[in-house]
Amino acid sequence: MNTGVAALRAENQQLRSELHELLDQAHINQQIMQRHQAFDLRLIASSGFRELIETVSLTMADTFNLEIVTLTLIDSDHAIRRILHELQIGLDEFPNLLFLDALPDNAALPVRPALGVYQAQQHQFMFPTYRPSSVALLPLSRQHTLIGYLALGSAHQERFSQQLATDFIERLASIVAICLENVINNERLKHIGLTDQLTGVNNRRYLEQRMQEEISRAQRDRSALSCLFIDIDHFKRVNDSFGHQCGDDVLREVASRIKQELRLSDSLGRFGGEEFVVLLTQATLQDAARIGERIRASVAQQQIRLSGNDEVLQITVSIGVASLMPPERNINATAAKQALLKQADDALYRAKESGRNRVMLAEPLVSA
Ligand code: GH3
Ligand code: MG
Ligand code: MG
Repeated sequence: MNTGVAALRAENQQLRSELHELLDQAHINQQIMQRHQAFDLRLIASSGFRELIETVSLTMADTFNLEIVTLTLIDSDHAIRRILHELQIGLDEFPNLLFLDALPDNAALPVRPALGVYQAQQHQFMFPTYRPSSVALLPLSRQHTLIGYLALGSAHQERFSQQLATDFIERLASIVAICLENVINNERLKHIGLTDQLTGVNNRRYLEQRMQEEISRAQRDRSALSCLFIDIDHFKRVNDSFGHQCGDDVLREVASRIKQELRLSDSLGRFGGEEFVVLLTQATLQDAARIGERIRASVAQQQIRLSGNDEVLQITVSIGVASLMPPERNINATAAKQALLKQADDALYRAKESGRNRVMLAEPLVSA
């Protein structure tokens, strides 16, 4: 009898301890689920590209205990990279954001989630900064089109085995794909709102915004900042003699010649009809004058061929140059921007007055 009671007690204890384990496990599962839900919400709430990439490459690795998460985007026409560049999102900030120039051929990359041991030949390019032991490659698609890959990497070889159920990570991949499409569309819209549709260069709104940011930066760094005001000479005659369409061709060609003379850190904007403004960072009045002269020569030296007929046109531009060297600290950026533009515009007016096809300098605005 006694032994029966003892056995029952022992069994009871065993059951209790199993129950505790189950409860503990349930608690852990609940915590994991909450963490996953919080992550999903964060992913969905990402409003811009930068935030989404950060969430994917940093937060996701943390949330799921992974050593690395990378995102590869198929960007055959470089459209995504161009937008990021225009929005000043530096790719070097995101070593785990990768681009493919062409659609991968099916043999090399999976069209369904692929889990397994890391194989350098197949996986290396998706893990440029860390060599995992096991990987999960998740194709991202929207409207039946493959847009990229989410690649998860773990230091543990058993983490992603071929037998593992994939429904959870597939769901994750589809949320990432939707969020990605959404932020890319948003960035595209932003980009369209800041671009001149005829020439493809920035519009006035963007350039004025950018100018203010650069003036604030130059005020902090005590660095020089310059601007060119460029106006096509006798442009009305082009329209009057050859038609508006030809005028548009000339605008596009002049924009492209200006752009060719600039560094990546400079910005070009179409300010009005046949007027362009260039913002040159870390450039003194003399530097700016040199670049202005290069632009003037590049437009004047080679005639412009019109599309759709055999005409060639001799076009010239006049340029006004002004500088803040460096901008005064106690003047607000808006006022400094207006002063800089006015100086450049006045110099441009003098260039027109003294015969066009020339570069004129404003007096530098030197602060004490
Ligand atoms: P100046 O040498 O003094 O600058 O003479 P201009 O003829 O270039 O200057 P004006 O301001 O008299 O003429 C500018 C012309 O630019 C008038 C306008 O019809 C034309 N224009 C403005 N926007 C566009 C455009 O988007 N496309 C075309 N084709 N023409 C435009
Ligand atoms: Mg004009
Ligand atoms: Mg003009």
